[in-house]
Amino acid sequence: MPNPATDHDTVLPLHPPVLAPVADSGASFPVRRIYCVGRNYAEHAKEMGFSGREDPFFFCKPADALLVVPDQQAAILPYPPRTSNLHYEIELVVALGAGGRDLSAEQARAAIWGYAIGLDMTRRDLQAQSKKQGRPWETGKAFDFSAPMGPLHPVRKTGLLDAGAISLSVNGETKQSSDLGEMIWNVVDTISYLSGLFELKAGDLIFTGTPEGVGPVVAGDLMVGSIAGLGELRVQVK
Ligand code: MN
Repeated sequence: MPNPATDHDTVLPLHPPVLAPVADSGASFPVRRIYCVGRNYAEHAKEMGFSGREDPFFFCKPADALLVVPDQQAAILPYPPRTSNLHYEIELVVALGAGGRDLSAEQARAAIWGYAIGLDMTRRDLQAQSKKQGRPWETGKAFDFSAPMGPLHPVRKTGLLDAGAISLSVNGETKQSSDLGEMIWNVVDTISYLSGLFELKAGDLIFTGTPEGVGPVVAGDLMVGSIAGLGELRVQVK
């Protein structure tokens, strides 16, 4: 069928773009890719059975795994299939407004468009099986709705977030509590390193890793994530 959005016919309707809302604004941020950093807080690396410091490593989630969480409201996260050990990981998300390859620290800093609170939801049992068998992590990490994220806050309003409290509670009980300053690879180093592996572009999101205290949730649980300067993120498992 002729598609009004292009000069060409497409055999299917075009897929809708993935849009992340910008806080206190009617505007949206078009999402291109979602990169995630593994084991970026020493105490979390240790709880997962590792030494606590190594070069950063990355995995991806599909952009449409994003679950948009509106401001001041709880989003519903459907409990995913084929797991009995769904884990939360509270993370600072960095949104890029510019990209490039082999970015210097200065260029990496300038590429930051803004920040949000995110959850890197993980089917821990499937991830553990993948690790054991030397298989890829997609089934554990990249499933539908695996990336809940709150509204994006522009860096021009927040300033650079190098430090500040990051925490997560489940049903009112604190489970994760740390500081952004505890990251092994800070945001600028992470962007710089990642840009040596991939050409980064405006619209990319980076989930920057979780502190210690990860654990399971079940249907009915309410997760409340918080990062200083970014408000709260509320997600209920259904
Ligand atoms: Mn993570």
